[in-house]
Amino acid sequence: MIMAFVASPNWGFYGHRTINKMAVFTLPQKMLKLYKANINYVSDHAVDPDMRRYATKFEAIRHYIDIDQWDTIPFSKLPRDFNAALLKYGKLVLVNGTDSSEVRMTWDTDTTVTLKVQRSDVVVKQRDLLNYMRQELWPLYYEEEMKTDVVVAEYWLKKSINAGKYTQIVFIDQFSQHGILPYYLEMATNKLTNAFKSKNKADILKNSADIGHYIADAHVPLHTTTNYNGQLTDQVGIHAFWESRLPELFAEKEYDYFVGKAEYVADLQKYFWSIITDSHAYLDDVLDIEKSLSRTYPSDQQFCFEERLGMNTRVQCKEYAAAYHEAMQGMVEERMTASIKAVGDIWFTAWINAGSPDLSDLDTAPVEVEKIIINTNIKTREHEN
Ligand SMILES: [Zn+2]
Repeated sequence: MIMAFVASPNWGFYGHRTINKMAVFTLPQKMLKLYKANINYVSDHAVDPDMRRYATKFEAIRHYIDIDQWDTIPFSKLPRDFNAALLKYGKLVLVNGTDSSEVRMTWDTDTTVTLKVQRSDVVVKQRDLLNYMRQELWPLYYEEEMKTDVVVAEYWLKKSINAGKYTQIVFIDQFSQHGILPYYLEMATNKLTNAFKSKNKADILKNSADIGHYIADAHVPLHTTTNYNGQLTDQVGIHAFWESRLPELFAEKEYDYFVGKAEYVADLQKYFWSIITDSHAYLDDVLDIEKSLSRTYPSDQQFCFEERLGMNTRVQCKEYAAAYHEAMQGMVEERMTASIKAVGDIWFTAWINAGSPDLSDLDTAPVEVEKIIINTNIKTREHEN
């Protein structure tokens, strides 16, 4: 595998690899043989999603959610259903050639939405609007535009919204750009479940490695905020400090990875949202503790130079890192071990949901490790790691 030079690999390469690797040991006997034989695969490929983010615009947003953009804990304003969230924060525009007119959506009651079509109000059922979204617009999510004929919208909405001269209606997604992590975790679990159903070994391992990555990202407090790298609080670099530097310095020696056995998750949506909520609840500590430490600690002893891959790199000094690590009282270890347990839980749950297929007849020879070529010229925000 070709290694990438990524400015700030999240959880470090070390963290992601360790999490996927240790998750293997939570699995029941019936799954263990396949995963143990391929432990290097799920561990090495734990960082694939970070590499892919340079290749497609749809990848980066799967790694985070700027949830404070929308709401505060317990995030009750945010629909748990992805289509409903897209709709709630999205925009509908009627078009005809270059002529266009926005349709204002007002979510007035629990069951209806008022669409302001030019000067008139059209009241439609939320359920009908959501059906239109699910059936017609969602299949176009990965296209350039999410657009249908007006008559198609009218069919689902059971109301006329034509206003005379418009032929098409465009949905503008204003939600995804702020991150879709909790929603994507459900989709990724379904992919893994399908891989188990088809008993395709390569798919099982690929999707296991992938979802391990996203689950681990969800455990990082700085993956749940607009202030993802401390850029709003004059703490630039805290992202890599917390999730890469600290585990690299302290995990091997100090962390205890015993997390017990994987458990079945009956309500995936609730489970994933509680991971995000727990992560976000730690956010103030992540930022505030470093902030007060940086004020009291001698400023010339906070940053040091270390040789990394042949380059002199500016990083937080070991002693400074140790002081931060200690002041957080085990938070990094807690998030890392919680990640391991959650990865095991979800691998196990996907297998159960697929009908617990017998994996003993799958050949356990390690899957070929494919090469990943990375275009390092494309810059994305560090948070997208
Ligand atoms: Zn990531």
